[in-house]
Amino acid sequence: MSTIKFGPSGLGSVNEAISNLEKLHSLRLTACEIAFTYGPYIKDKEDALKIGAAAKKLGIYLSIHAPYYVNLNSKEIEKIEASKKRILKCCEMGHWLDAKRVVFHPGFYSDMKSEEASIKIKEGIIEMMITIKKNKWDIELCPEIMGKVNVFGSIDEIAGLVEETGCGFCIDFAHVLARYDEHKFEEIKKAFPQKKWHAHFSGIEYNEKGERNHKLTEVKEWKTLLKFLKGLDKEIVIICESPDPVGDSIVGKSLAK
Ligand SMILES: [Zn+2]
Repeated sequence: MSTIKFGPSGLGSVNEAISNLEKLHSLRLTACEIAFTYGPYIKDKEDALKIGAAAKKLGIYLSIHAPYYVNLNSKEIEKIEASKKRILKCCEMGHWLDAKRVVFHPGFYSDMKSEEASIKIKEGIIEMMITIKKNKWDIELCPEIMGKVNVFGSIDEIAGLVEETGCGFCIDFAHVLARYDEHKFEEIKKAFPQKKWHAHFSGIEYNEKGERNHKLTEVKEWKTLLKFLKGLDKEIVIICESPDPVGDSIVGKSLAK
């Protein structure tokens, strides 16, 4: 049976971070993803060290979500360079925060075929991994499965990056449902044989193009997902990205018992 850590996306501001971690701990949640989605707002190394130490003491596993505006397969080289810089800045802060994973959206197809886009994105990941290693940052890059069919990040594309670079990954189960209109549990199980999984979840609205909106997580959706996850033998961190990420994480955790 899998072990599953539950927690929200969103830690709150620097000033509230430690009290929010205490709240999560009192609610028995054991994970939290810091949303650097509009940039790394924790800028000071001392702040990061304090927040990281508090999370560790409270038994909360921290991860980071990198900014949305990255594209490792842009047609413009400057945009690829800027994207790598943004992700690496998250890695640096993540290292001080004692966060173990930086989740990011790998990029767009930019009129290229999947294979061509994969090669470019793989190059970017390998370059960033070299910088991470050189700086001795203890953190893993995790490209995410994406919810829109016209965005790079299918199950196979993400699994391919993992296979070829040794990077981590983020399985967003809501995105999978939106992209394929199916849960694809068996495909996911095959594509990611690794013991440790990082995952996102929430309710989702979608159409034929894929993801439209994240919404509250319905109990029946949680139950379907948890039945699958519990039947595996993994160490899973599942971050809830619904409009009520703490409330929905508590529901998920209670259903996983
Ligand atoms: Zn994401």
